[in-house]
Amino acid sequence: MEEQGIIVRIEEPTEWVSNMVVVDSPKKLRICIDPRPLNEAIRRPHYPISASERLFTNLQGCTVFSFLDAKNGFWQLPLEDASSYLTTFTTPWGRYRFLVLPFGLNNAPEEFQRAMEEIFEAEPQIQPYFDDIALSSKNLQEHCDLLRKALTIARKENLKFNPSKMQIAKSSITYLGHIISEEEIKPDPVKVQGKQLIVADTLSRATCPYVFDEESQSPPSVHASVLAIATSPRWKQLTEMTLQDRVLQVVSRYVTTGWPSERSKVDPVAKPFWHCRDELYLSEERVLCRGNRLVIPEEAKKETLEQLHTAHRGIVACKTKAREYVYWPSMNQDIEAYVERCSICQKHQRSNTQEPLVERDLPQRPWQVVAGDFLTLKGTTYLLLIDYFSKYIEVQHMHGGSASCPDLRS
Ligand SMILES: [Zn+2]
Repeated sequence: MEEQGIIVRIEEPTEWVSNMVVVDSPKKLRICIDPRPLNEAIRRPHYPISASERLFTNLQGCTVFSFLDAKNGFWQLPLEDASSYLTTFTTPWGRYRFLVLPFGLNNAPEEFQRAMEEIFEAEPQIQPYFDDIALSSKNLQEHCDLLRKALTIARKENLKFNPSKMQIAKSSITYLGHIISEEEIKPDPVKVQGKQLIVADTLSRATCPYVFDEESQSPPSVHASVLAIATSPRWKQLTEMTLQDRVLQVVSRYVTTGWPSERSKVDPVAKPFWHCRDELYLSEERVLCRGNRLVIPEEAKKETLEQLHTAHRGIVACKTKAREYVYWPSMNQDIEAYVERCSICQKHQRSNTQEPLVERDLPQRPWQVVAGDFLTLKGTTYLLLIDYFSKYIEVQHMHGGSASCPDLRS
């Protein structure tokens, strides 16, 4: 990365130093910064990102299309010196700072989109949507001129494209999950199928985190293993679903602009997210996340439940798996209802009735819920306490077998 001019070594003291995060991909290790503390201090630009519908209207009435993909996305955007020093991060080999926009900063998507729109602002028929750039014209001659302009502008701005993803002068192209042609703009069947697969994909590959789309150069949004799993085209589908989800849009707005000071002032649809509001953030791909988990839009819930219940796992196993990777407010109840309704499970349970394991929801904080029991070992009685949140174990020697230990008042 140093050779590529992505980062540079730094000796002088800096105001900010972030931690380094190493992401292990099959081909090589990737280094990112842990952006969370920095993100808290960043004032987001609130730059409006065009809805894909608006982009599509500009393409209507055209017959020739091209598609360009900006290589390495954010890394093409150089940082000003002052900003660059803020991205300083520490490694075992010393401190480095980014010379270009790193992945994971919460203002990166807006800044990148703004830069792309500024670069091509003189040409309304060149439409960037993050790293995807669509060109459309009425005829081939116009299109050649437009393509020449686009490439000239790109050369001047030092913007590089990914040759393997280019679609040049076609009568139809795929763009933002749609097939665009003279006659119509329709959802790409591959993408629609993919849409149904994204969560399945996330869950099924969850056992080997940090799997990358080999073709895509985009590192994931840094800190979450699950976020590293889905490949970039799939992110776009989950992004679209999140954008179309009314509740998640209200929540996303709070995440971006800040939550009201009191729960009573929160839009009723977003209230179920109030308790975990501090853990919510939008990934670089604009997908809502809670910690390491994906927040599942309404549209994807059914498929997620199916995936969680593959091999007809029991309620407890489903919930355990779900808690690691996904979240929505009524998730536990939905899993219970789904598994209880499963006809295959019901059929097999009748002949094999077992006392069900009583399962509790995970407490909000350590030591909120504690289990305790006595145990006797070699004639000595101990009190054993287990914290439900952390599974931390506390053992107290009981003098004379009574519960009069002074340490246990709490
Ligand atoms: Zn079942």
